[in-house]
Amino acid sequence: MVQPHLQQKNYQNMKEAAILSNQELSNDNKTQNMITIKGIIGLIMSQIDEDNQKDVISLGMGDPTAFSCFTTSYVAEEAVARTLSSAKFNGYAPTQGLPQTRMAIADYLSRDLPYKLTKDDVFVTSGCTNAIDIALSMLARPGANILVPRPGFPIYELCASFRQIEVRHFNLLPTKAWEVDLDAVQNVADDKTVAIVVINPGNPCGNVYSYNHLLQIAETAKKLGIIVIADEVYGHLAFGKNPFVPMGTFGSVAPVLTLGSLSKRWLVPGWRLGWLAVTDPTSMFKQPKVMERLKKYVEIYGGPPTFVQAAVPQILEETDEIFFKKNINILKQTSDLCFEGINKIPCLSCSQKPEGSMAVMVKLNLSSLSDITDDIDFCFKLAKEESVIILPGVAVGMKDWLRITFAVEPAALDEAIRRLKSFCQRHAHQSD
Ligand SMILES: *Cc1c(COP(=O)(O)O)cnc(C)c1O
Repeated sequence: MVQPHLQQKNYQNMKEAAILSNQELSNDNKTQNMITIKGIIGLIMSQIDEDNQKDVISLGMGDPTAFSCFTTSYVAEEAVARTLSSAKFNGYAPTQGLPQTRMAIADYLSRDLPYKLTKDDVFVTSGCTNAIDIALSMLARPGANILVPRPGFPIYELCASFRQIEVRHFNLLPTKAWEVDLDAVQNVADDKTVAIVVINPGNPCGNVYSYNHLLQIAETAKKLGIIVIADEVYGHLAFGKNPFVPMGTFGSVAPVLTLGSLSKRWLVPGWRLGWLAVTDPTSMFKQPKVMERLKKYVEIYGGPPTFVQAAVPQILEETDEIFFKKNINILKQTSDLCFEGINKIPCLSCSQKPEGSMAVMVKLNLSSLSDITDDIDFCFKLAKEESVIILPGVAVGMKDWLRITFAVEPAALDEAIRRLKSFCQRHAHQSD
């Protein structure tokens, strides 16, 4: 068990980090004080007493593999087992990735695009995280800034700070289905802006953007003369009214770097198989010099294990539709459960029903709570009293909100919501 004074200290450190990260600091200071999701979740987990009677339920991290209803497809398992035991893939892969893997990814992405990608447009990366780092590193230059959504995914800030890229935030609008505030984008951009980050389907908001909204984003990028970094790690995980439209659809309006991985759709975040695709059919960004630089840069990384790469063609071509449908159905069910359950708890509100990905943002109504000071305090006390782990909104840039991951076994989610409710009742003002 963590000592009480240490818990207090960690809590204080984290609050300071949260405050610091919201202020203008030099890049070096920022890097040290940056909050990461894993870091915050670790601190919140340390609140839980070992002799606690209740099972811990985590709605904090986005790793659905903790629940038995989220297992990968037989095709994927079999493909990796086959390439591993073939003994043909124990060596180094080319730094850009195995040619057959790049080809399979190009074909997979091209299914939903109005043009065809080739294997030369694709780089195999160690998960989408590595693709983020490659994209940002390629764009880094003295004085450059990138536009990042708030709320967002903290890896972008972390990565930008190491690459000395300034991060400028634009808001996603909770009352407009978490669409991008396009006026804000134009206001924060200047001639040093190199790119805008778009996460769709969205983490942490559960948004799925319409064709028209994505087109507007591309047109804004065109006007600003910048490229779009499209984080589509949740690609195809859409279960609301809007279908998933890849940003690359608008690659001829503004160049798009499409980032993705097997992690979420195939439920294998531990396999570390991702990609970066240059979806730029008119070669606005894709100049020979740029591509040469990209090829050089990826030499720094070893890439994902060769036998996992070798399994990709079979995984992308042969995964059964039934596997995808089953997961979409579970996510739809748990997102509904979450949305309805949360809205029955007076101190919480969720105005926008999640339509994709695995997470949703929930607003904390502090005025109805008697002894909770902020989102971090809420999450610490909730962990201690109810053994439920939730991410404080400040970790994704929105103080006094919460991010709830609903990629959870339905029964566990039900139980977590029940505990959340009794926690809120216990801490509510007497007059409520
Ligand atoms: C999970 C996630 C990633 C990282 O994906 P990996 O393939 O596990 O590296 C990147 N971006 C967003 C928005 C994510 O939610």
